[in-house]
Formats: sequence, C-alpha cells, structure tokens
Amino acid sequence: MARILVLGAGFAGLWAAIGAARKRHELGKSRRDAEILVVERNPYHNIRVRNYEVDLSDAAIPLAELLDPIGVDYKVAEVAAIDPARQDVVLATSRGREVLRYDRLVLTLGSELVRPAIAGLAANSFDVDTYQAAVRLSDHLAALGGQAASPGRATVVVVGAGFTGIEVATEMPAKCAKAGITDSRIILVDPNPVVGATIGDHGRPAISEALTALAVETRLGVKVSAVDARGVTLDSGEFIPAQTLVWCAGMAANPLASTLAAEHDRLGRIEVDQFMRAKSLRNVFAAGDIASCLIDGAHSTVMSCQFARPMGRFAGHNVVADLFDEPMLPLFIDWYVTVLDLGGWGALYTVGWDRKVHSTGAAAKVTKQTINHKRIYPPRNGNREALFDAAAPTIQAPPVTRAASTS
Ligand SMILES: Cc1cc2nc3c(=O)[nH]c(=O)nc-3n(C[C@H](O)[C@H](O)[C@H](O)COP(=O)(O)OP(=O)(O)OC[C@H]3O[C@@H](n4cnc5c(N)ncnc54)[C@H](O)[C@@H]3O)c2cc1C
Repeated sequence: MARILVLGAGFAGLWAAIGAARKRHELGKSRRDAEILVVERNPYHNIRVRNYEVDLSDAAIPLAELLDPIGVDYKVAEVAAIDPARQDVVLATSRGREVLRYDRLVLTLGSELVRPAIAGLAANSFDVDTYQAAVRLSDHLAALGGQAASPGRATVVVVGAGFTGIEVATEMPAKCAKAGITDSRIILVDPNPVVGATIGDHGRPAISEALTALAVETRLGVKVSAVDARGVTLDSGEFIPAQTLVWCAGMAANPLASTLAAEHDRLGRIEVDQFMRAKSLRNVFAAGDIASCLIDGAHSTVMSCQFARPMGRFAGHNVVADLFDEPMLPLFIDWYVTVLDLGGWGALYTVGWDRKVHSTGAAAKVTKQTINHKRIYPPRNGNREALFDAAAPTIQAPPVTRAASTS
C-alpha cells in the first residue's frame, strides 16, 4: 500500500487531504491502494483568518468531523524532522519519537509569526497567529476586564500596521468592550511612516478614516525597543503604560522548510511549480504559506488563505494523479483581491495586484463576513459528496460584494 503523508491541516493541508481523497475516489482506488494520512499538532482545523475576531466560536473545527467521512486518517503529533532522501518524517508524539515513511509528501505546515529578540517581548506579548494564542489573548482581556483600574489596564498596543495588525487594532475596541474594558485605549505602532505600507496607497484613506472613527491612535516611524509587564518603550523614548501588547509584525515560512535542500524565497518559502511539486525535492508537493509559485505567470503567491486553499486542492489532486501515473492539473489564478476588516467601521475590499479600492465600509464588511464565516468553511454536514465537491480542483470566482461603492 502506498502512503500519501500530508503535514499540517490548515487551509492548504485540509484541502489537500480532501482533494487527494476525492481524486483517489474518482480513480476507483481505495485506502488499500493509497493511504492518506494527515499529521497535525492540533486535533482541529483552525479558521486562522478569524483569530482576530471578538467571537472565536467555531474557529476550530474537529478534524474527525472533516476527515472520518472521507476515509482520511490523521495523527495529532508534532512534525520534528523531514528527510526527503529517505522519504520519511520524524514525529514527536506523546508516546515518544515515531518515524513515518511516505511515497508522496504534501508539505502544508504554513507560516509563523516572527518575534525579534527585543528585551521582554517573548514574556510580555500576545498574538493571534494560532487559535490557542487568540484564546489566550481573549482570556487575558477578560481577566483585565474584571480588575480595578490600574496603569495600562485598558491600553492595548498593537505592533505592526500591516493586514493582521490593522484587523487586530480595529477589532480591539469591540473585543475590549466584550471583556468588560469600557475605557479602552488602542495604539497601533509601526516602523513605517504610514499605516498599511504593505497594502499600498489606494486603500490608505479608508484605513485612516476607520482608525480615526474608532479612536485608534498611531505611533509611526518608531520601533519597540523594550517591553515589560508595565508597558512598552519605543525607540522614540516614549513609554506607553500598557498591560497588553499584541505582536503582529512579520511572518515567515514554517522553520522546517529551511531544513530542506530546496529553493527558498526571502520568506523561507519553498518554490513549487504549477502542479505544486517542490522544485528539486523528489516526490514532495507543497502548498499554502510554506510554498510559493508564480500564480498567474507573473506574480508570486501571497501568504493568504485565498491562495492556500486552491494550492491545497490542486496539490491533493495532483499528488494522487502523480502516484497513479495520471495527468496532473496546473494551477493558474488570474485574479487577486484583498478584503481587510476594519472593525466597527466596516471593511476595505481591493482588487488587482495594485490593490485599487473596490468597495469600503458596510458593503465591504458584508463580503468580509461572508468570507470569514461561509466561503472558507468546509461543509460541516459530514457528507462525503459535499466535501469532495468543495475540494474539486477548480478556481472559485472572486467574492461578490453588495455594492461597488462606499458604506
Ligand atoms: C489573524 C490573521 C488574519 C488573516 N487574515 C487573512 C485574510 O483576511 N485573508 C487571507 O487570505 N489570509 C489571511 N491570513 C493568512 C492566512 O491565515 C494564511 O495565509 C493561511 O492560514 C495559510 O494556510 P496554510 O495551510 O499554509 O497554513 P496554516 O493555516 O497556518 O496551517 C498550517 C498547519 O500546520 C500545523 N503545523 C505547523 N507546524 C507543525 C508541526 N511542526 N507539526 C505539526 N503540525 C504543524 C499548524 O498547526 C496548522 O494547522 C490571516 C492570518 C492571520 C493570523
């Protein structure tokens, strides 16, 4: 029996596993011909893009609900090492070390937040990179909400004014209010001279309007130089009393990618071809944030669920096709959009690689909520055909919006 090993069950890994099971079924093969085994450190699929939201319910879906109906096995374990020459993977499990051999590997271990070596940062910061981290932040705010006033109790410093930091900062007034912090003060810090430097110029007026409407302060052109339990020191010399710091600056590919003798880009991602085959690694496919490819022949994929999900579907389809000598399908997506949540103000929907504004405010917010709560969810009725249909190697149309105008 051949084994397809899928490492990670995020947006790329989950859809690779379902896509592989779909193709296996389509070819009339069973798990006796090809076992599909997912290894994931958590027993759930995290809808990671929702980790900044006030309400985290249903952001972690049990893997058994999604994988049992389609005949895909999974192990909850930590991937410790990958050896493409021997075609095996070392796991650290609760019972010790385990080695799993594979015939084909699908590498979908995602990305991680990068924390620089700033004094006190590791011990005194929060993030929303994982579901566990998001729950920890919510619990911390709830604890503060139950306390008497003290310096910095109601102040949240968010570091990094890119996509994630802006979403965290604009959602934070509502998150604090839910936690019982009624006098919250939110401060967004970034070393760039403008907010959303990585997002581009077109959307900045909408972002600025939202920050002003939500009374989110900014400190731009400055870096964090030290953090302790009392607050945050900036390299401008300012000390901000704050009992909550949320670090949102910088992402890199999962560190296991750097252990592989593959071609890496500046984010540590492994380069894959249009079939999601890792260049220079035999029998290895990769998808999602750990991989990069030219998605339209000109632009490299951006770390996003927008690309991770189709990359996963195609990797799953192709890994089974490759195993059984069937033709593979190339992935090509000729559209790119971003939909940035701006909390109580609404959202910002941009189109194209130059991120021109398509809609803002309440209209874009409806689109954002549809994406976060419907579009990127797997079917949850335990129906095998529904799961297979959702994993077909096709390209979705861009998300629709109620109106191409403001609010
Ligand atoms: C707060 C937030 C908001 C975001 N908003 C958006 C957005 O609006 N739009 C958008 O397109 N993208 C957004 N993103 C980015 C998006 O979430 C990622 O691009 C996407 O999750 C990538 O999918 P992936 O499967 O490659 O990685 P992940 O979804 O991170 O999945 C990787 C999986 O591998 C597992 N794993 C990692 N290492 C190991 C190991 N050693 N052993 C075992 N398991 C392991 C992890 O537990 C995880 O389940 C956002 C991200 C965050 C954090």
